[in-house]
Amino acid sequence: MSGQVTAITAESERPRDASAALEARALKRIPAGVNSPVRAFKAVGGGPVYIRRGFGATVEDVDGNRYIDYLASWGPLILGHAHPTVVAAIQEAAAYGTSFGAPTEREVLLAELIQEAMPSLELMRLVSSGTEACMSALRVARAFTGRSKILKFDGCYHGHADSLLVKAGSGALTFGTPDSAGVSEAVAAETISTPYNDLEAVRGAFEKFPGQIAAVIVEPIAANMGVIPPADGFLAGLREVTKRHGALLIFDEVVSGFRLGLGGAQAAFNIAPDLTCLGKIVGGGMPLAAYGGRRDIMEVLAPLGPAYQAGTLSGNPVATAAGLATIQVLKETDPYAKLDALAGRLAAGLEAGAKAAGVPLQVSRVGSMMTGFFSSARPTDYTSALSADREQYGRYFRAMLAGGVYLAPSQFEAGFVSAAHTEADIDRTIELAGKALAGR
Ligand code: PLP
Repeated sequence: MSGQVTAITAESERPRDASAALEARALKRIPAGVNSPVRAFKAVGGGPVYIRRGFGATVEDVDGNRYIDYLASWGPLILGHAHPTVVAAIQEAAAYGTSFGAPTEREVLLAELIQEAMPSLELMRLVSSGTEACMSALRVARAFTGRSKILKFDGCYHGHADSLLVKAGSGALTFGTPDSAGVSEAVAAETISTPYNDLEAVRGAFEKFPGQIAAVIVEPIAANMGVIPPADGFLAGLREVTKRHGALLIFDEVVSGFRLGLGGAQAAFNIAPDLTCLGKIVGGGMPLAAYGGRRDIMEVLAPLGPAYQAGTLSGNPVATAAGLATIQVLKETDPYAKLDALAGRLAAGLEAGAKAAGVPLQVSRVGSMMTGFFSSARPTDYTSALSADREQYGRYFRAMLAGGVYLAPSQFEAGFVSAAHTEADIDRTIELAGKALAGR
């Protein structure tokens, strides 16, 4: 029993020369060599792996190393990489033209399909990223209510729009301070951040700022401080409090949408939010996202109403083809029970391996999304998530990468099982993790 995670064996370190060469070139032209910060592997050490292709549950890097992939492009690839139906739909759409700036049939079909899956989206807009969806939902909420403040939760990520890059300090209720340089204090001051799973703090915020909070935005299953499920009654409590105070409830289902079932977390927990943000799976791996909700609220959007939101590539024909194909395959194959079973097998195997090795590991899982926290107690919010041992995660991550498993390069991200994973993939992962955790 080592209680320490170390590399599996020196021999299993694979050469990554081509990745290193690309990184050296990228560093000269792209900040930190990456187009999204966490790809830089800063949190886990080592240089990024440059991917050249993916198929099923496997990704292959530019040196030819193959990995069982649990990143799934940070969530979208619930069907795995290069699913033949999705690829065919993209190819067919691209051959007809990649963008028109005019409406197309697939936008209508996709909106209909989303509404069928999530009835609370009576009217919706298609956009190009989860960031855009959340930013736009906030604007709509402010326009509809005539209020300016937003309440979010510590450790929840809703994209990088200014007013959402805010979390409170450890105090239960403070004005927000910017998390990022470049966000003005004035903008941050409109955002209140309280601890996840703490209804009392939300009630306190509504008392402190009566008639000022336009909306509460929440990840109904938190995935950006690692996976943390909502406590019993938390979401229902948010529904009740927001309704009582005339504020809107926004579910950010960018991760949970189509991940737990076609109806997302709102179906799983039987709560109808006023507005919903979607991204990731809804675009089938292409840049597409959506936001929508109650008809009377969404009618504030131009040209029906006074709130402006637009996009050259919104509802892009190739992206809608990928989203439609993905959701249709999900509808036809209904992989959710299989996903849950595979993810359950993985979580149980990882915990057993950790126990055998004497390493404290809490696998926090909801359906096919999960995070293994290196901590002795299961986190319930941002503060408790932060107690996880990041150094240990870094060693674990590097050992798994060397052994051929690609995990999220941060302790505080979700891992995703896809419909392309097999029991053999899961068992191989458990075996490698067992060795990494035992320091063999
Ligand atoms: N909302 C949630 C819950 C997310 O996890 C993310 C991204 O990871 C976003 C919004 C932002 O989406 P995007 O990266 O597409 O802008």
